[in-house]
Amino acid sequence: MHESIWALQSYVFFGAMASFAVAELFLPLRQQSERLDRRWTTNLSLLVLNLGLVRILAPVSAFLVAQEAARSGIGLLNIVDVPFWLAVVAGMLAIDAGKYCEHRLLHGVPFLWRLHLVHHSDTGADFTTAERHHPIEALIGGLTISAVTLAVGVPPLAVAVFTVLASVDALFAHSNLAVPPHTDRWLRLFIVTPAFHNVHHSAARRETDSNFGQLLTVWDRMFGTYRRSTPEQDAARVIGLEYLRDERSARLDRVLLAPFLRIEAESPRAQPGSETPAST
Ligand SMILES: [Zn+2]
Repeated sequence: MHESIWALQSYVFFGAMASFAVAELFLPLRQQSERLDRRWTTNLSLLVLNLGLVRILAPVSAFLVAQEAARSGIGLLNIVDVPFWLAVVAGMLAIDAGKYCEHRLLHGVPFLWRLHLVHHSDTGADFTTAERHHPIEALIGGLTISAVTLAVGVPPLAVAVFTVLASVDALFAHSNLAVPPHTDRWLRLFIVTPAFHNVHHSAARRETDSNFGQLLTVWDRMFGTYRRSTPEQDAARVIGLEYLRDERSARLDRVLLAPFLRIEAESPRAQPGSETPAST
């Protein structure tokens, strides 16, 4: 059962990745000014490393945690009597809320930011950026889903569906894809879109500390971290971190070591513009 779900997730994920790679060629949101080979070597290497990590950790994956919780009656949704469909919806909402909280902590806690800055140090944004995570951050991401699953009693089906939807939307949200404005307005009522998430990858901290949502935009609206931007602002936006823009910092070995190196202005509060709160 677990193996077939893993296979389905893999087919959907790599199919979506190929689709966004092609779509970006025909409908780019922004002109890519950075060298693609330099960025892609690091981003795709991190994808391979993190896939390996997930494979090793498969026995303790969130799906197995959900199965065990259901068998043992652990977690709120396994205790209260609710229809199965409601448990699936509530479980997916709980995981997405947990991922929103995790993302706020990744920005707000200095040590966690040093892991997460690997993601933000990409000097461009496209579908490969979605996979640019330090392995320790990827591990924390898996543990967050497992912890929420155990506490809430998320059904295994909800974990599987959320994992597929979130991985595809992460590719979509980071893609360099120009979604027509009226379609974007409609989509962002519910899910994270490229224009919505591009704000989060800005070099200006007041923009970086906004639009934290992973799958749904409701949490940013609810907690006051939603920031709108105009197409003109989107076109002019500088992506990445000003203090990690040199060629050496883009290398895979430097990216893997980045959380443990002394990096100037490493604190999320040390950048210009950090004092300005996000507008809602
Ligand atoms: Zn972030």
